[in-house]
Amino acid sequence: MQPSIFNVRVPLDDGPHTDGNDVFMMNTFTDAQVIVGSDVARLLDRLTNDVAPRLSEEEREAVGTLAEMGFIVESREADRRNVEQFFADVRADSSDLRVTVLTTLQCNFACDYCIQGDHDDFNKHAAKMSLETAARVVAWIEERMDLVRPRKFGLTFFGGEPLLNLPVMYYLAERLWAVCRARGVESRIGIITNGLHLTTDVVDRLLPFGLVSVKVTIDGDRDTHNRMRPLRGGQPTFDRIVDNIRAVADRCQISIGGNFDESSVGSYPDLLAFLREQDFADKLARVAFKPIIRGNATQPKGFIPLTPVSGSGASLNGACMTSAGAACDSSWVLDSHMALLREETKRFGFATMDGVHMGPCEIHKDNAHTIAPDGSLYACPGFATNAQESTGHIDGRHDPGRSRAAGRFERLSAWKECEDCAFIPVCAGGCSVASDVQLGDMNRPNCHKVSFEAGVVSLAREAAARL
Ligand code: SF4
Ligand code: SF4
Repeated sequence: MQPSIFNVRVPLDDGPHTDGNDVFMMNTFTDAQVIVGSDVARLLDRLTNDVAPRLSEEEREAVGTLAEMGFIVESREADRRNVEQFFADVRADSSDLRVTVLTTLQCNFACDYCIQGDHDDFNKHAAKMSLETAARVVAWIEERMDLVRPRKFGLTFFGGEPLLNLPVMYYLAERLWAVCRARGVESRIGIITNGLHLTTDVVDRLLPFGLVSVKVTIDGDRDTHNRMRPLRGGQPTFDRIVDNIRAVADRCQISIGGNFDESSVGSYPDLLAFLREQDFADKLARVAFKPIIRGNATQPKGFIPLTPVSGSGASLNGACMTSAGAACDSSWVLDSHMALLREETKRFGFATMDGVHMGPCEIHKDNAHTIAPDGSLYACPGFATNAQESTGHIDGRHDPGRSRAAGRFERLSAWKECEDCAFIPVCAGGCSVASDVQLGDMNRPNCHKVSFEAGVVSLAREAAARL
């Protein structure tokens, strides 16, 4: 009998409902959360198989309850076996089939941190999905659906800027809606967009086919956003995006995402204040910001480094990784800015991520796929512009490169280097795209334990306030 590896605890200060001796405890594997007296926390600390027979009746009762909640396990080996089984179950989960379609890699923005945006002729050559490929995407998804037999299907449109290829979006939405209806599968559509072409016409066209949510990126207050995310001709975009959000906020869930670096992070409180003043503020489903992922190759601007769990410990410089960051809330690689911005976001009354329940992300799921404009398959959107990481193709073609890549993603298990970290079940070793870009190895953990710990402190405060 042992305390679980996955227990975390936060001593609670004196407050209206605590006496200064209480402790918030959470088990990240079972998600159990309790507030207990410090005597219970001490009992956990001295718990071993040797001590168990000498416990009082009251202590045995407490131990029984804590064991039911997962705070006490048979052994640390059992904890490790359980978490490995958990990751295997996550990988094999067939209840939800998720597909992200990159309708185009073209973009009308020239984001400050985007390598693509720096190239004048990028759009001329960037891939765009044809209607013919879209028809093959439908057939491929239909086949997967009959094989996997999910209860739910989630379709996300992403890019580039997905709204630059509306015919493909409309085609896929309509056809896949029919595919799901014919099989009794619940379906939902999400869009991740820069918001410039987000009109009521687009939303109304997609609503009957399951559009539920739209995530729009705003990078800081008006001036900062206009600097970070101008049009390719340099024109500002902030006001038009905000007008567009206002126009559609009644029709579907709108989330605001933002990518910050050291040059822009200071403007986010002003953005939050601005959003709070808007008539659509209470309709925003979520507001959440994350650092820009930068690697070593380019970008002289401010960066927020990832920290290797072990190894060189050298500082990591920055290159743009906007596709990973923008695609995926789980890639909220973090530092103290993250925790502060989360608290600010809550202070302005917006729902946001709690900083603890961050994963495992879709790269660990066999039934989550990203499809590039040419029909190539990828394990997650963050790898989708790197042909060497393609895991297959919707036409079923096999080649050694794709097979090797598929094997690499199936074996992904960066958490194995994380020893006895309590956050393994909700982190899984962090964002593999960030590891690849910044550490040069997708199977190494990138660690933001400090931010997970800050998230637990927030959960503890909220739990204490509810007492
Ligand atoms: S690897 Fe990173 S970008 Fe890809 S799904 Fe996971 S968190 Fe998101
Ligand atoms: S990368 Fe995640 S799981 Fe690994 S040590 Fe850091 S916080 Fe823990």
